[in-house]
Amino acid sequence: MDVYIQSARPLVIERAEGTRIFDKNGRSYIDGNSSWWTALLGHNHPRLVSALREQATSLCHVALGGIIHESAAHLALRLAALCPGLPHVFFSDNGSTAVEAAMKMALQYQAQVGAPARTEFLALDGAFHGETLGVTALSGVGAFRAPFSSAIVSARRLPSPADPEVGLEAALTALECALQEASTVAALVLEPLVQGAGGMRVYSPLYLKRARELTAQAGVLLIVDEVFTGFGRTGTFWASSQAEIIPDVLCAAKGLSGGLLPLAATLASSRVFEAFWGGKERAFYYGHTYAGNPLGTRVALEVLSVYEDENVLGVAQERAQQLALGLERFRAMPGVEQVRSLGMIAAFDLGGNANYLQPLGWEVYQEALERGAYLRPLGNVIYAAPPLNIPSADLQELLDILEKSVRVVLERHGAA
Ligand SMILES: *Cc1c(COP(=O)(O)O)cnc(C)c1O
Repeated sequence: MDVYIQSARPLVIERAEGTRIFDKNGRSYIDGNSSWWTALLGHNHPRLVSALREQATSLCHVALGGIIHESAAHLALRLAALCPGLPHVFFSDNGSTAVEAAMKMALQYQAQVGAPARTEFLALDGAFHGETLGVTALSGVGAFRAPFSSAIVSARRLPSPADPEVGLEAALTALECALQEASTVAALVLEPLVQGAGGMRVYSPLYLKRARELTAQAGVLLIVDEVFTGFGRTGTFWASSQAEIIPDVLCAAKGLSGGLLPLAATLASSRVFEAFWGGKERAFYYGHTYAGNPLGTRVALEVLSVYEDENVLGVAQERAQQLALGLERFRAMPGVEQVRSLGMIAAFDLGGNANYLQPLGWEVYQEALERGAYLRPLGNVIYAAPPLNIPSADLQELLDILEKSVRVVLERHGAA
């Protein structure tokens, strides 16, 4: 244990408030990734904490087996209202299971509409859809998939439009080819507009638009995984709405509960939903014990109210401009490549090739910690995805820490 602590040097965090996390010595760090993209309203938002407290006094948990409770019912209605064309909501308890449920829905849907041969999935190179065994098949990050390759469902990976070496045109051509021979494909699964864990790689909404048209023609379901991009991260409430598409299934988690509790939702169209009618044997037998947990759903309802009352998307739009502007200083830095931003995401690569085993990103991480910011890299991809309502001064400080940390590391390696 001591050896582990000495070599891994984990931060011992005692409390968090707003943009900052505090360690046990009272040092604070700006949370540059919103605690893995969940605390979109900052930590311990007083309204979320008080909703949680209040809910805890009346009902902490009841399983959704023949039971419904007020906050789950209301949350389903509010989510459906935010997703035109997707009126049906299935609750689970984390991002992976939101996508896992979508995959099972797609397989069972295809079998029940007379296409049982459709058992395969399409996903993108560089994709990340979670950690459970089903979604591991979709992973386009080799290190996350390879150890389990003998035991995963069948998935074909397509060249990603977010890969600068592929580009939009070639990715679209590959997609068209794949969907021409798609009689065994159940669904295409995409992270809309940005591949998160695969390296914050951004791509054009045109790809999504075309993917929607082609999947519809081919009888393949389109599943969009908004676990990272949802709740305003990319500038609109859902990223997929920037492409003006309605998917067949949409997955949400992370920001859904403001980073307080594990909660997820998988939304489906009426066409998908209705394929499960007609007899007990056609039902969707999938239910996690804590699905739609009252504490989580009550907090999620409060999250949606805070978005409205505090104009969170409007504030995020201003901060996104500040973030994009602040990123300009990195463009001319030797050793810095692929400077990019989208909404409240800013990223660049150090020395090219993102690789989970390369250490430059981790040196930046250490330098940033010493200066008061938590900026966990993805290999050599350095990124910031702070809370959407981060105060302007904190965002400036985060950018300044990022700049100093990157300069120190690049100088050490003789790049600058
Ligand atoms: C984080 C993430 C997941 C998995 O969510 P967990 O809650 O960690 O299981 C799935 N898809 C995307 C796009 C994610 O970013």
